[in-house]
Amino acid sequence: MNLPGVDVTAARQKVYPRQMDGRFRRLRNFLSVYLQGLLFLLPWWQWQGRQAVLIDLPGRKLFLWGLVLHPQDTYFLHLLLISAALTLFCVSAVAGRMWCGYACPQTILTQAFIMVERWWEGDRAARIRLDRSSWTASKLGRKLGKLASWSAMGGFLGLTCAGYFLPIRELVQQALHGQFNTAMVATVGFFTALSLFQFGYFREQFCTYVCPYARFQGAMLDSDSLIVAYNGDRGEPRGKLKDPNRGSCVDCTMCVQVCPMGIDIRQGLQMECIACTACVDACDQIMDKTGQPRGLISYTTLSGEPGKLTRPRVVIYLCLLVGLIGLLGYLIFNRTPLGLDAVREMLPGGHLAETTPDGQVSNIFSINLVNRLAHPTRLQLGTQGLPGAQLMGISNPLDLASGDVTQTRVIVLVPANTSRGVHKFFFTARPIDSDGAQPKGGTDISCQKEATFVVP
Ligand code: SF4
Ligand code: SF4
Repeated sequence: MNLPGVDVTAARQKVYPRQMDGRFRRLRNFLSVYLQGLLFLLPWWQWQGRQAVLIDLPGRKLFLWGLVLHPQDTYFLHLLLISAALTLFCVSAVAGRMWCGYACPQTILTQAFIMVERWWEGDRAARIRLDRSSWTASKLGRKLGKLASWSAMGGFLGLTCAGYFLPIRELVQQALHGQFNTAMVATVGFFTALSLFQFGYFREQFCTYVCPYARFQGAMLDSDSLIVAYNGDRGEPRGKLKDPNRGSCVDCTMCVQVCPMGIDIRQGLQMECIACTACVDACDQIMDKTGQPRGLISYTTLSGEPGKLTRPRVVIYLCLLVGLIGLLGYLIFNRTPLGLDAVREMLPGGHLAETTPDGQVSNIFSINLVNRLAHPTRLQLGTQGLPGAQLMGISNPLDLASGDVTQTRVIVLVPANTSRGVHKFFFTARPIDSDGAQPKGGTDISCQKEATFVVP
């Protein structure tokens, strides 16, 4: 790490990454197209008549294909986030910062913005010249052209990001008909401005100064983790091509020119390095041109030996990950659309039951009902297995909005001839329509909960 000696207050030196082809570049291009396709197409995916992935903030719901999560389901999100973090830890322990270099949206989208910048202003040398030159009509045209293209990209990206929060088909329909509401303009505008700033201007500074991952990667890497590194033993002393005493490095600075982080990998492993392998491709081409073996900059490990996969931290991460994914799968698989819970309450004076003058017996229960459906529902509460039982003290049926959690008290009354003892029975909650009949079609989502009734 090069933190000692770094002047963190120094003004930013703008980075002009040079275009470079190569085997890793092609792999990253392929991944970039695939991941951007996923990002832009996902909001258009329909599932059971609605958007498959939607964060409905006003409705306080998260739609994930067939799963509808409400505020009381945040443990699902916690498990998902912990699983994502563990995946990142595991990938980092094995493959270093491969996520940063190959899959992080910051890297991929910055590359897309740089590609457009290159169309308007040329490659590295031309861009440096243009920025240093005085303002002319040609320079203004190029800068405005770039800004217009970036704005279009930012707008498209903003619309896509907004489409994860507002139904994207409605957004586009409204936009096409010139109907703009405040929520739509604010959401699209926010994401558009953010993407212009983030990928057009802030770029590598986000990785260096904002992203926490760069900070704690040191704790996640060990001597067996994959890193991109320069082989100083082979490369030094660096020198010009004709220098007979030089090592393999011809000091062409190609590895520095292509680096999107603006660092020199020959100075050792640095916090800023996102392991994008642009310097590997660049140096391999120089090695080819100078008739030397490739690999002066390459994937390696801190120990210099091939990394072992079966090491304690990797095994622990994998075991935790498999356990968490198993738990998530179990919870999702066993999740019911309706939730019903019932607990018998103690009566004043510590009694479990009360007997009316005509011999009927009552118990009081505290009932919890949850509607996990994406729509409101009307529920008929009843009992099963307790002959002659009546429910009193509540308005039955009950109307529950989507995501509602309702707690209510109910008196259960049984006839005088009910035998003494503890009777097991079930509370039932059955969806009904406005006519009181069971809704037609679809699967039966009625639920029940076992409880006990005490007859003293
Ligand atoms: S690209 Fe290779 S040869 Fe050129 S300066 Fe970098 S390490 Fe040296
Ligand atoms: S040093 Fe190499 S691998 Fe690291 S960010 Fe720069 S170009 Fe990418």
